[in-house]
Amino acid sequence: MLKDNFDKVNANIQAACDRAGRNREDVTLIAVSKTKPIQMLQEAYDFGVRVFGENKVQEIVDKYEALPKDISWHMIGHLQRNKVKYIIDKVDMIHSVDSLRLAETIEKEAAKKDLIIKILIEVNVAKEESKFGVMPEKVEELVSHVSQLPHIRICGLMTIAPFVENPEENRIYFNRLRNIAVDIERKKSDNVIMSILSMGMTNDYEVAIEEGSTMVRVGTGLFGARNYNQV
Ligand SMILES: *Cc1c(COP(=O)(O)O)cnc(C)c1O
Repeated sequence: MLKDNFDKVNANIQAACDRAGRNREDVTLIAVSKTKPIQMLQEAYDFGVRVFGENKVQEIVDKYEALPKDISWHMIGHLQRNKVKYIIDKVDMIHSVDSLRLAETIEKEAAKKDLIIKILIEVNVAKEESKFGVMPEKVEELVSHVSQLPHIRICGLMTIAPFVENPEENRIYFNRLRNIAVDIERKKSDNVIMSILSMGMTNDYEVAIEEGSTMVRVGTGLFGARNYNQV
């Protein structure tokens, strides 16, 4: 059943790539496994899944310890500065950098371990009050500061689009995120590449791919609904 969900999502990704005239290899599916038990991740691992997304530090640490070491872990949730040290050597990418202070903490911890950490800048592209992420008009300034930090590599932008019934309503936001990345890319700063756009979740990943997403973060569509009371 889990395998069927992955097959279905992968087929939808392929179809969206076809519609947009894009290569399937340019879109990474991040299996968002938050709240799901280790056995379920192991099952997905066994049929070939290697890229998982989590939003809690403790959960990354526990799952990292329990599962094979060739998994690529993506931190996609809000990150508190005092917890950076626990995941710095475990994650492949941090998607949720939205302040210089957080970036400076990542820099400090990465330097201690002689690592270069790949990050994305999280953008609150729809300017929702309840959301984390830097405002669109502040992205360039944050990028220019963070790009000075030698143990951080900015690889692109991430957004969590509004919760909507009709995913078409989010097309404008995905398009906007892409335009922000294109504008920054044009300025060609050192230590800044804008090759990754992390956008699209279960409800809207197909629209996001049509608008240029290179990483879709799908949870419910793969693992089923989350029950927060159980964890
Ligand atoms: C939970 C989560 C997702 C996945 O959400 P679904 O709607 O279950 O696909 C994607 N991105 C972030 C940042 C999340 O926290």
